[in-house]
Amino acid sequence: MRYDVRTGEFVDVDFAFNAEGFDFDMNDGPETDPDAPEPTSADSLYKDFLNVWIHELGHGGGIADIYNPGYGGYYLRQMGFENQMLTMYGLIKSAENHKRSLEDDDKLAVQWIYDNVPESAISIVLVYDGSTTYTTTLSAFDASKLSGTELVTNLRIGDALGVVQLPGTVVAPLTVIQGEAERTALIDAISTMTPMALTISERGSWRVRPCYLRPKKRASRP
Ligand SMILES: [Zn+2]
Repeated sequence: MRYDVRTGEFVDVDFAFNAEGFDFDMNDGPETDPDAPEPTSADSLYKDFLNVWIHELGHGGGIADIYNPGYGGYYLRQMGFENQMLTMYGLIKSAENHKRSLEDDDKLAVQWIYDNVPESAISIVLVYDGSTTYTTTLSAFDASKLSGTELVTNLRIGDALGVVQLPGTVVAPLTVIQGEAERTALIDAISTMTPMALTISERGSWRVRPCYLRPKKRASRP
């Protein structure tokens, strides 16, 4: 799942279906009745793929399952009752297909989440790698400058961004976006950066080293 770090808005989500425990098929027939008993006939012992997928997509949007009274351990009083029509109802009968469509309460749930995203600002420090491997072998330096520029363009008023180029150059100090002036200054700073091959000793000063967590030495007893 990918989401926008600034707003919490989800951008895309992948699903994997595991047919180990269930059979999946498609029930393109008329919408099933959620109040009907669980079908038992052999040709109905499958889960409708679209029905399941639309439900799981709701989880991708941040909505939890909803249940009816009596479903021990999962039911909360605030859920009310008669929820079996909802796409986010937590039980899926064999061959049912009515979860393919959204009900009003499903839409309200996801709407509520998006209406209540906290208005918090973020601070980001971009760290650029000017080493030969990164710039020449991977041809990644210009591409990463473009990504940085794109990010600056999308920052909101109140967000802050700083830029560092390894091994130790502050290209732009942490700058709070107050308007177009800060945005332009940050983009200019990013665009002026040039690759800088690092010496071995410079590399040694920032290269990620393996880190071992050593247990604390016990005081030796006499
Ligand atoms: Zn669910």
